[in-house]
This record gives sequence, C-alpha cells and structure tokens, in this order.
Amino acid sequence: MNPAEWLRRSARRWPDAPALLAGTETRALYAGFAATAAAIAAGLRARHRIAPGERVALLMPNATTYLEALYGIWHAGAAAVPINAKLHPREAAWILEDSEARLVIASEGLAAELTPHLPAGVEAVIVPGSDAWERLTATPTPPGGDVPCTIAADGLVWLFYTSGTTGRPKGVMITAANIAAMTACYFMDVDTVRHEDTALYAAPMSHGAGLYNFMHVIRGARHAVPPSGGFDAAEILDLAPRLGSVHMFAAPTMVRRLVDSARAAGGTGEGIRTIVYGGGPMYRADIEEAVAVMGPRFVQIYGQGESPMTITALARDLVADRAHPDWRERLASVGTAQSLMRLRILDESGQDAAPGTPGEILVAGPAVMAGYWRNPVATDEALAGGWLRTGDTGHLDADGFLTLVDRSKDVIISGGTNIYPREVEEALLEHESVSEAAVLGRRHADWGEEVVAFVVPAAGAALDPIALDAHCCARIARFKRPRAYFACETLPKNNYGKILKTALRDRLADTP
Ligand code: AMP
Repeated sequence: MNPAEWLRRSARRWPDAPALLAGTETRALYAGFAATAAAIAAGLRARHRIAPGERVALLMPNATTYLEALYGIWHAGAAAVPINAKLHPREAAWILEDSEARLVIASEGLAAELTPHLPAGVEAVIVPGSDAWERLTATPTPPGGDVPCTIAADGLVWLFYTSGTTGRPKGVMITAANIAAMTACYFMDVDTVRHEDTALYAAPMSHGAGLYNFMHVIRGARHAVPPSGGFDAAEILDLAPRLGSVHMFAAPTMVRRLVDSARAAGGTGEGIRTIVYGGGPMYRADIEEAVAVMGPRFVQIYGQGESPMTITALARDLVADRAHPDWRERLASVGTAQSLMRLRILDESGQDAAPGTPGEILVAGPAVMAGYWRNPVATDEALAGGWLRTGDTGHLDADGFLTLVDRSKDVIISGGTNIYPREVEEALLEHESVSEAAVLGRRHADWGEEVVAFVVPAAGAALDPIALDAHCCARIARFKRPRAYFACETLPKNNYGKILKTALRDRLADTP
C-alpha cells in the first residue's frame, strides 16, 4: 500500500508527462520524478542507514523538492514527518525529538536556524543544492531498487503534529490505509482529477495541501509550486490561466484574499478549475461573494489532522446551486459525511443528539488515524469506543448536512449560557464596514465571560461600535452581542491560514 507505488505506476504509464513545475517551468517529467524518488530511497538506506518504518522529517517551505523528498522517504518504506515551516526552531527541534527522527531534510535558511537546537544524533540534509542532497538524489539504484519497499496497510506514512493550541503538539499517526481512504473519498466526494490538470501548491505542503498530491500523482497530472513558495493571491491569478485547469486547496482566509484580488483585477479566477476550501470556518457572506465573483469553482471539505481532509464534503453543485430552496442553509454547512465515513453528534448527556441539536462531533471510518505517537493516554481519550472525538461542536439536519458551530474549547460561557463565537462573527461580517472578525470570551467577574470582538475594518471604513451594536441586536440575541470591540489591521493567523484565537486571548490579557 505504499504511495510510491502510485508514482511508479504513473511514471511507467506517462514517463514523458510533466510532473514537477516551478511556476510554469517544468523541473521533472514523471520518469525523472520516480527515478529521483528511487535514488533518494537508495541513498536514505545506504548513506543514512534509514530502515523501513523509521521517521524522516521535512522542514522547508513549498518546493518541488518537497514532493521528491516525500516520495523518496516512502519509496524507502519510511514515514514522513512534515514540520510546519513557520514554527520556532525550538518547536521544530521538539518534534524531531518526539518523533525520534534521525534525519531532517531542510531548506537552507530553516536548517541554519535549527542547527543550534538540533537534538543529538539528528542529521540535517539541506535542500536544494547541497552536496549531501546532490549525493542523495544521485545515489545509484541497486538492482530491483526501482520497486518501492512494501508498507503494510497499518504502516506509518505521515506523522503529522497537531498545532498544539493546548499543551504540547501531538504526533498524529496516519497510515497507508488512511491515505488510501482519504484518496478514494476525494475521487468519490470532492472532485475528479484528469491527466491534464495541475495541482497548485499555494497552501503549505506540510498540511492538507501536501496531502492532496496523491490524487494528482495517480492521474499523472502536474504539480506546480508558485515561485513565491507560499500564498500570494496576485501570483496565483497570474499563474492559473498559464497553467490551466488548476486545482488548489485554500483555507477560507486565503479564499477571501483570492476573491478580493480577482474582483479588484476584474477577473473571475480564469484557469482555476477547483478550489477546495476547509481547515477553518468559511463564513456564509464570504462564500456567497466568492461564488458570485468566481463562479462554481468551490468545494468544501471538513477534516482534521486526525482524519485528514476526510470527514464531510460539500460538493461543487451544492455550493453553487442558488436555485435550491435550502441553498443558503447548505452553504453554511460543511456538507455530508464523505462516503467511507460515519458521523455522530453526542449531546451533553452523551446520547445521540436529535437533528438540529448541537453536540460534539464524532467520526469513524478508514481515514481516522491509528492514534497519537507514543501517547496511549491521549489516544484512548480521542478514540474511545471506536469513534474519534473531534473536539468540534455541530449539529446534523434531517438530510445529514453537518453544520459546525465551533471548536468546543472556543465556546463562550456567559452567565451560564453557551455562545458560539462563529454565530456572532457571521453577524458582524454581514456589516459592510467589517472585513474580518474574531469573537472570543473575556473573563468577567459576574458572568464568567463576556463577548468581545476583534474587527479588521473594510478598506476605507472605521470601526464604529455603536453601529455594530445596533447591527448585532437586529440579528442575534442581545446577550450574544459583543460588549467591547477592538480594531486591528490584521488578525493573527498561523501558516495554515487559521485565525489564532490564543494570540488574541494573550492580547486581551494585556489590555487593561
Ligand atoms: P487541523 O487538524 O489543523 O487540520 O484542524 C482541524 C480543525 O479545523 C477542525 O477540527 C475544525 O475545527 C477546523 N475545520 C476544518 N475544516 C473546517 C471547515 N470546513 N469549516 C470549519 N472548520 C473547519
């Protein structure tokens, strides 16, 4: 079940098809991509003594070498540990130690920052261009070395560290079978992929965007990395028509920037076939605008590191079908369970909640992780009874559409009543003076917590708490309205485009 088998098969079927592109420039054909992966695997074994099942970490911004390194690691039967390139070097070093990786493949700048913190016995190979990398990629493949090492269905393939908003990050063990289930569900529920398509990696490859490589490898499609190595809306809109038939994953905050940029340029996102969005809440006002500006290019997924990209999907036609009587409600949902997955909502008493009643979302199915790395206590807690506890709160409607209300830990409890920040954020975003909003609870002597809002005003607008108060009172219950507003130029976001409520909480603690 080794994903490197998929690469080998595609390389034999389409040896001369472009595989890896930097911008629009082809860096490798499929035959070359597979040969490099086999050479890296031979080098990992012969030069670095990496045995099947061992972990090899990756610490670099998006680059075509990311895919070469990943497939080299898998070809050797080892597991990849993708590290968020924006972490502090000490955090990256902690992940190296915890995962017991002996080797990290790192870009030059990140390797330099990491060196003083590198745990004893861990080797760093710098990419691209270092002698060590050149030697690795040029390692002669021994007889039979073009065949990837076998990985069992329950073998570790991807050891992904949670963002660790509470305590230390945990290593999520994603197996070969998890990857296969995720990939199968993609073809069943998210999108088709054609040989002539291009996967454009604008979001970090260490996360969901990287996991969407498999479908494109299977079809022998192209993989393009933008020259900036990251998310730049203008660059994407420029590259897409030149690449054609582009597929990309984007966090909702990235979609927002892309739509603003397309509208400002008078375009509609030409060249982009599919934008899969997810990883954080997409506000209804934002997706309505996105479809109005860019048309039916959007599919939503809901997933988490522990069930990667694969819990629910909201299909393209449901996102775009304005004629459907339930269009608005469905647009505010994350869709229905993906085909191999099952969903449950548990109410406060631990019973299955009735339709419309919010509770904790549980998920089961072959995409759910094997557990947390070297952490049986956390594993038992997360997977008790064979269901993954997502930590998200949501409700199902009678047709099986799931609506997320919030992360359980973000729920504000004021005067003993639950307030879901997302509902307040949705209301604020409907005001024309608001570009972005984040709502959270601030300690309050009498009520436990009170609602406060951080607002990024729209271009040319100023924060007007009185107008926003009236606007909220017209839309949501009075007790849910923010009691204080803070204007900010931007909201703090992590590398994956998620709004960092912990950073905002710290800001609140510093505010008198
Ligand atoms: P991560 O494990 O970093 O991928 O984060 C997963 C979390 O992101 C989930 O548990 C949700 O809280 C959130 N999330 C993922 N997809 C969506 C979505 N489509 N809408 C809202 N929140 C989402």
